Amino acid sequence: MTEEQSASKEPAVIRVKPEWCKGCRICVVFCPRDVLEMENGKVIVVRPDDCIKCNLCELRCPDFAITVE
Ligand code: SF4
Ligand code: SF4
Repeated sequence: MTEEQSASKEPAVIRVKPEWCKGCRICVVFCPRDVLEMENGKVIVVRPDDCIKCNLCELRCPDFAITVE
């Protein structure tokens, strides 16, 4: 019996700490799937289903304000 657990099929959990986000837009620019947008100077997750979990947003954020699981 084989158990197929395709991790890539699980939806990404993108967490933003608004109090740490300074609104630099780096994550928005680097995201290849337009998952993120700015709202009132903070980043928000608008299309989580499109996230490919590339982690670029997390790696590029200078303030550790965004994480992807
Ligand atoms: S992990 Fe990649 S695709 Fe997902 S929000 Fe971050 S930059 Fe965009
Ligand atoms: S890169 Fe970090 S600080 Fe800059 S907008 Fe994105 S979450 Fe906010």
